[in-house]
Amino acid sequence: MAQEQRTQRQMAQQQTAVAQVLTGLESGREWYQDLYRHLHAHPELSMAEFATAERIVTELRAMAGAEDAEIVSRIGNTGVAAILRNGPGPCVLLRADMDALPVREDTGLAYASTATGIAPDGSTVPVMHACGHDAHITCQLAAYRLLAARREAWSGTLVALFQPAEEAFDGAQTMVDDGLVDRIPKPDVALAQHVLPGAAGTVMVSPGAIMAACDDIAITLHGKGGHGSAPHETIDPVVLTAATVMRLQTIVSREVDPNAVAVITVGRMEAGTKNNIIPEVAEIELTVRTYDERVRERALAAIERVVFAEALASGAPEPEIRVVSRLPLTANDPEVTERVQRAFAAHFGDRMRPMDPEAGSEDFGIIPDAFGAPYCYWSFGAHDPDRWDSAVRAGTAGSDFPDCHSPRFAPLLDALDTGVEAMVVAALAWLGRP
Ligand SMILES: [Zn+2]
Ligand SMILES: [Zn+2]
Repeated sequence: MAQEQRTQRQMAQQQTAVAQVLTGLESGREWYQDLYRHLHAHPELSMAEFATAERIVTELRAMAGAEDAEIVSRIGNTGVAAILRNGPGPCVLLRADMDALPVREDTGLAYASTATGIAPDGSTVPVMHACGHDAHITCQLAAYRLLAARREAWSGTLVALFQPAEEAFDGAQTMVDDGLVDRIPKPDVALAQHVLPGAAGTVMVSPGAIMAACDDIAITLHGKGGHGSAPHETIDPVVLTAATVMRLQTIVSREVDPNAVAVITVGRMEAGTKNNIIPEVAEIELTVRTYDERVRERALAAIERVVFAEALASGAPEPEIRVVSRLPLTANDPEVTERVQRAFAAHFGDRMRPMDPEAGSEDFGIIPDAFGAPYCYWSFGAHDPDRWDSAVRAGTAGSDFPDCHSPRFAPLLDALDTGVEAMVVAALAWLGRP
């Protein structure tokens, strides 16, 4: 009973703090909608977020109430952190990703991007914020600004972290490799969000695995080349590759628990130059998606076993297996998520919904993992709520609305309010207990 009363009192304190901090929402709306339109019209590719980072620093320096904040820039090339120390209490890290995609925008918005950038291969490509990272930056800056303006409502340390190159899957790791852990205070909790197809005004959050672990693997299968009319003098890597690809497909069907989820997709295979030449070598590339570390380890071990065993069966030299990129599972900490859900329920009511696991992957988790801190990652809806809900009822939401990475992905300006509120409410679930 004493515990229950304490929790109720803490919840009441938090709600008072939320109300105080959000009094500035109305008057700040024009500023953050302008900022969003600017960022949307000026997207930059992964690891080229120079103007974006500069704008973030300019905005951070101009914020009333945050004059004493420590601003650390150039973490992992373009990363920025703002550290606001506001008395004793927990340290909360908010994270937003900053990069855009090589996509030609087709939204028809007045503030649509016509920007271009230089792709890793040196070519000039169109660039668009097709994954909503402009909304993530905007909402995080706006939440930080609101909290900075009402420092009497909370106590603790707030870190707003702006991360490069989420789309390239290496931005978080680059920040960690660049000494992130020594350059910002250790967070007690890390929080991040993504704008996704859904009803504007709603937040989606669930405990446990919500984004898949991803392992991208490249394999070189060696053979012994020769004339197509004399296969007995060769070791044919084409036949070896065909057998390997087929056998890899049995891992999910024969080795993974039917109740678990795993995907193994061979997306590229390449061998040979001409019909009557048996080539020396073949290449395959695959992606593995899993939601459970044990399933992941088992699938990866099975891939290695199958690849080596098929080479052995062909009498071929040892193959080479290279991990091209690797992303950990994004799994929400149960206790942290419960606290976020309680705070969201008190603020959003039935506008809080469960979040279904996404087959996509995220590198956010690398940051809290580097500190050994628990985290929660949620999403908020991008689209017209009435149209979305009726499309869901008709079973056509997936096809009626453009998804992230689509040239037509265009979150409503109104959707931003929820992203701002969600960051404030979740941060105050730790900081709003003076
Ligand atoms: Zn994306
Ligand atoms: Zn994204």
